[in-house]
Amino acid sequence: MSPAPDSETLRRAATDAVRAASTLCRTVQTALVSEETLTKRDRSPVTIADYGAQAVVSTLLRRAAPGIPIVGEEDAAALRQDSARELRERVTRAVQAVPETSDLGEAEILAAIDACSDGGGEQGLRWVLDPIDGTKGYLRGEQYAVALGLLRDGEVVLGVLGCPNLEVLGDGAAAADRGVLFVAERGAGTRQVALSGGEGSAARVTEITDAALASFCESVESAHSAHDRHGQIAAHLGTRAEPLRIDSQCKYGAVARGQASIYLRLPTSESYREKIWDHAAGSIVVEEAGGRVTDVAGRRLVFGLGRTLEENRGIVATNGILHERVLEAIRATEA
Ligand code: AMP
Ligand code: MG
Repeated sequence: MSPAPDSETLRRAATDAVRAASTLCRTVQTALVSEETLTKRDRSPVTIADYGAQAVVSTLLRRAAPGIPIVGEEDAAALRQDSARELRERVTRAVQAVPETSDLGEAEILAAIDACSDGGGEQGLRWVLDPIDGTKGYLRGEQYAVALGLLRDGEVVLGVLGCPNLEVLGDGAAAADRGVLFVAERGAGTRQVALSGGEGSAARVTEITDAALASFCESVESAHSAHDRHGQIAAHLGTRAEPLRIDSQCKYGAVARGQASIYLRLPTSESYREKIWDHAAGSIVVEEAGGRVTDVAGRRLVFGLGRTLEENRGIVATNGILHERVLEAIRATEA
């Protein structure tokens, strides 16, 4: 048995893996998401990048820190079918175009994708991966994220969120600079770093105490959260700003760096269970930036119960200061 890797090794492994996968996603998006794919509703760009990103992250994590199970959204069953030969070749080319994984052949790529089939659980270390979160945003040429969390005994202790299309903010950043990596470690804060490199800076939530002055963000897709409920809650809080609609866990990034004070995700159905890979990385990014994340009833998120947040309903992320006010507004506006 190899010794348990230290936190520096884990952080570096996660950051390198998300950076490489983010580059793959961006290259494929730039090359393949065109007017034509949008109008044809051709999902092949997102499919290629989704499989490709999972293969890259899986390979780099297993090389740098072997033996840690990975809970990933995808598996390669559909990709292995005879009818998927062309898709398989396109995924292989996308993975080989990434310098760190240029040596992988098709069989190794399929095996890397399938190496992310862990079912989750409460004990030990496990990675939690969404290779492309916000696939609709990706296909529209808008926001999406490569999201990687690390659970230790069911608690998120590390999160890296690659946001290839998000504006770089801060001193010296040009308006056109895009591509941000959020890196959060339990007890050590959240940093935002340009995808292109550099030191980056600490990310901090807003210090807004007056809910009427707070702006909130929500999904673009109305099927993923109840926009009408958000409107009622915002009205109850007296917030007048229009909601900031962003796909993917970039919403957590927006709260972590103070572009919004609240992220609302009220459930659209009683039966839906949030997936752990949709919230592991994002939640620690907000918490370590000084914010708070719970479900709509104010319960802490429980990540150790398998592939879903079985005990939770919906999500509320805030700057912390406003959290109880928002939970109270949710209760007050319940039908
Ligand atoms: P967003 O970009 O925030 O709208 O969230 C994208 C994620 O929503 C996807 O990764 C899906 O896993 C998840 N999703 C799909 N259906 C639902 C649903 N009915 N309610 C909440 N989340 C959903
Ligand atoms: Mg997702």
